Parts: sequence; structure tokens; C-alpha cells
Amino acid sequence: IIRIDNITKTYGPLTVLDGLSMDVMPGEKLALIGPSGSGKTTILRILMTLEKIAAGHIEVDGEQLYHMRKGDSLVAADEKHLQKMRTKIGMVFQHFNLFPHKCVLDNITLAPMLTKGVAKAAAEARAMKLLDMVGMADKAQSMPAQLSGGQKQRVAIARALALSPKIMLFDEVTSALDPELVEEVLNVMRRLAAETDMTMLLVTHEMGFAHDFADRVLFFDKGRIVEEGRPEDIFRNPRQERTQTFLRKII
Ligand code: ATP
Repeated sequence: IIRIDNITKTYGPLTVLDGLSMDVMPGEKLALIGPSGSGKTTILRILMTLEKIAAGHIEVDGEQLYHMRKGDSLVAADEKHLQKMRTKIGMVFQHFNLFPHKCVLDNITLAPMLTKGVAKAAAEARAMKLLDMVGMADKAQSMPAQLSGGQKQRVAIARALALSPKIMLFDEVTSALDPELVEEVLNVMRRLAAETDMTMLLVTHEMGFAHDFADRVLFFDKGRIVEEGRPEDIFRNPRQERTQTFLRKII
């Protein structure tokens, strides 16, 4: 469902992704692990079209993400194309990024109403279902500032689901949370993984969760995939020296 082909991403003189290629199969649950600064978050941001790429191609759900076909050639995607592609992907951020001046319900209904023209009543009915799923239905009228970090993150997950994306991206969604709030967010993600066929990409430092959640683990270092495989192989028997060193430090 995602095909990343030889992409390069630079920030000024810094090359963050260096000819990266990877494929993700429909329904696959992928964990991206690796040292800080290795480019994991950047990949998610690129998929969400929050960052531009310097070179390469990305296909999402059968269509080019940053390019459009015009006759026989590929040209840079226009805003309309990007907007359409964005509805295929939902993202949950480390720092929640809820709209602070909107109540929980409005946070969730805004995007479907604005980008898909969903009627208010229908958007609210769906939002309440999603809030129920993440255990937040009783907080629909609360403002984000009145919620705990774990509650905010569960609302952020519901918001990302509101556009019915085929792909969900989770960027270190528990690392800003107090330890006792981590589990409630992980539980929501476990349920999502078990009960839906969505494709899910997870950047995480929670190795235990990555092990249980992922079908496949990718270990990144310096903008490249150093090693990939089934979680039981990567965590128990990493082949590469760099993976071994990283896991020794973190586990
Ligand atoms: P972490 O686990 O710390 O989030 P990461 O593997 O997700 O690390 P990225 O956030 O993708 O790493 O960052 C990769 C590199 O790109 C880092 O060296 C970072 O400093 C750099 N970088 C990220 N965003 C920018 C930016 N907007 N401007 C300049 N450099 C950036």
C-alpha cells in the first residue's frame, strides 16, 4: 500500500534520508526503531506531506504522493492532489496537536466537515462512536486543557480515525506521557490493530510494545534501514552489530 523508492531528504547540508526504499503491504503493522535522529519521524512526516523530498518517488494506495500523471510524464503534485492523498493517511503526534480552542467533539468533526463536506449531524454521530471506542465519550464537551495527556492522545487517535484513513502513522505517541498513562494509549492501539485491517506505521522507543504490535520491525540508523525482520528475530537475534549495540543500550 506504500512504496517508497529511493527517496532523499535534506535539511540544508544535513542528509537525513539517503536513498531510502521500503514497501509496506496492506494491513501490515510496522514498527520503526532506531537511535534519535536516524530519520524515523521524518519518514512519517514525508508520508503525511508535511515535508518535501529532494529526490525519489512515493506511491500510496496505487497513486503517486508527490507527483501526478500528466499525459506520459510525471509532474509535481498540486495542492488538490496532495489534499486528496492526505485523506488516505491519519497521523498521531507525540505532542497531541489538538486544537486548543475547540472542544473534544469539534476537534474530531472539523476535518470531515471541512475536507469531505460531511454534514454536522453525521460527523458528530461518527465522532461519538470513535470517542466511545477510545473510552472518551463522556468527555465530548471538554476542552483539551481539561484532559490528561493520555486522554488527549486518545482523542488525537479518534481524530485521526475520523477521515477513515487506510493508513495510520503513530509518532512516538506515548513518549510525552507520564508512565501510568502510557498503558491506556497502548491499549487503544492494540485494539485498533486487532479489530481493523488498517495499515499502521509506528515510530517508538517502547520495544516491548513494538515486539507485540508489529508484524515487521525496521531498524534505522543514519537515514538508512540497517536491518529488518520479524520482531522475534530482530529483538532476540539481531544480525547487525549496530542493531545489537542499540538494543543493548535501550533494553
Ligand atoms: P527521534 O527518535 O529523536 O525523534 P528520529 O529518528 O525520528 O529521531 P528525525 O526526527 O526524523 O529523527 O530527524 C532526523 C534528523 O533530521 C535529525 O538529525 C534532526 O535534527 C534533523 N531534522 C529534523 N527536522 C528538521 C528541521 N525541520 N530542520 C533541520 N533539521 C531537522
